[in-house]
Amino acid sequence: MVKQLNKNNKAYFICEECGFAYLGRKTANECKQWCRTHHSCSLEITKYAIKI
Ligand SMILES: [Zn+2]
Repeated sequence: MVKQLNKNNKAYFICEECGFAYLGRKTANECKQWCRTHHSCSLEITKYAIKI
């Protein structure tokens, strides 16, 4: 599941599998699907992750 978090007037989307946050829901969904399938993170996806 992807969780939406609003902070500083921005919407962040969090992959609940690994906890990384993204600015795009699409990227968060890709992360979630990768995490669920591979039980690990994809560097191609997590490079878009942001610290909140
Ligand atoms: Zn993830």
